Amino acid sequence: MKRPTVLVLGGGYGGLSTVVNLQKKIGTDDMDIVLVNKNDYHYESTWLHEAAAGTLSPEDVRYDIKRVLNENKVKFIKATVESIDVDNKKVGTDAGELSYDYLVIALGFEGETFGIEGLDKYALSIADVNAARQIREHIEYQFATWSLEDEKDDSRLTIVVGGAGFTGIEFLGELGNRVPELCEEFDVPREKVRVICVEAAPMVLPGFDPQLVDYATSYLKSKGIEFSIGTPVVEATPEGVKIKTGEDKFEFIKAGTVVWAAGVRGNRLIEETSIESKRARVAVREDMRAPGYDDVFIVGDCAFMMNEDAGRPYPPTAQIAMQQGVQIAENIISLAKGGKTKKFVPDLKGTVCSLGEDDAIGNVFDGKLVTGKKASFLKKMIDNRALYLIGGPSLVLKKGKFNVL
Ligand code: FAD
Ligand code: NAD
Repeated sequence: MKRPTVLVLGGGYGGLSTVVNLQKKIGTDDMDIVLVNKNDYHYESTWLHEAAAGTLSPEDVRYDIKRVLNENKVKFIKATVESIDVDNKKVGTDAGELSYDYLVIALGFEGETFGIEGLDKYALSIADVNAARQIREHIEYQFATWSLEDEKDDSRLTIVVGGAGFTGIEFLGELGNRVPELCEEFDVPREKVRVICVEAAPMVLPGFDPQLVDYATSYLKSKGIEFSIGTPVVEATPEGVKIKTGEDKFEFIKAGTVVWAAGVRGNRLIEETSIESKRARVAVREDMRAPGYDDVFIVGDCAFMMNEDAGRPYPPTAQIAMQQGVQIAENIISLAKGGKTKKFVPDLKGTVCSLGEDDAIGNVFDGKLVTGKKASFLKKMIDNRALYLIGGPSLVLKKGKFNVL
């Protein structure tokens, strides 16, 4: 019997977790595993806010994908996926067409702009390594230009961050530490710089523990960060953003940098397939397969699952994407042997949100609240654990975070 081909699209947390768990559990002749990713490196999406602020080098955020692959079992193809035809089992890429017996779609997230005018054009987004690099360099350019120009435009030194979810808050935490460094580097007085977080909801980190939210906002305010809460961004222009401050009331914030961190959606390629989706996320079956397609699994931010106990969807996180990868690998192996699939059951270990290098807030181990250096230590351990689960101790030694004191 012909051995099955497993085609995995995307080498982020979900894709790599699927592939490394498959390679651990199969023999060399059991199946052909093909991993396609648009870069020959994997990046830690969960560290991108650090690269965007300039507190971590973009090089530290990424590593060569082949480092974690067993090339006797997995073929890696560097290619950009252009189309997915699940009815004819064909995937189009810029390196040619591929076919499969089992497909795993792990193409990750894109920034959600909710159709707000001007955001696509004038706001930057923490989307991948190069987008993070662009944010860092854009901010540095604004500081350098301000220092050089005779008639100084102080709005160059205003940074607006749209969205006070976990991404926005973690990015602000990094900026809190980075802005004083930039001021020194570019001879800019600190009082000239404004960092403003604009949030649509009536609170920062909507739905998170209020005690932790208070801790985070006071901490960030102590670093000079301003908050405009309950004031959605309604438009972006080359000069800044328009925010809604009341019924028929609007204000304009002039800003040299606008970073949009107000939510994510799945990869747009999903919307071009015949699989049903909403905001490019597929409501998967309990074994992570797409509805109506027994040979297609969806993992990570392209998958949508309800948390029935909480009455709301599971958030798109690396934590869940990696756990899904483990179950998908097990399910594919079982199907290939003529067996049955198992239900994916998330094991939520809590959430820790960093506030820069040495502070954080977290709700862990079933409701225990942590703040400060203890929480920051925990965050670094979580980051190192993710490396360990994909690449073992050698990847932790190469890329891990050890500045924990
Ligand atoms: P991704 O990690 O986005 O991987 C997708 C992969 O597909 C990438 O390698 C990409 O290059 C590739 N790809 C995309 N399009 C194509 C194409 N057309 N062709 C080929 N390859 C393609 N979650 C947590 O659990 N904890 C955290 O602390 C945390 N922090 C975060 C911080 C930030 C700044 C951000 C933005 C997110 C954070 N998240 C966190 C969420 C987490 O990063 C995502 O949930 C996770 O990355 C989803 O994994 P994924 O495998 O679905 O997609
Ligand atoms: P999010 O959806 O969690 O937060 C987006 C925020 O933007 C919300 O507070 C929302 O009210 C706000 N917003 C929406 N429209 C707006 C508008 N027009 N103007 C102003 N504000 C607006 O998105 P995220 O923060 O990008 O996070 C994405 C996913 O990644 C989430 O699942 C999150 O849990 C995960 N994540 C986790 C961590 C962590 O665990 N440390 C860190 C970052 C991201």
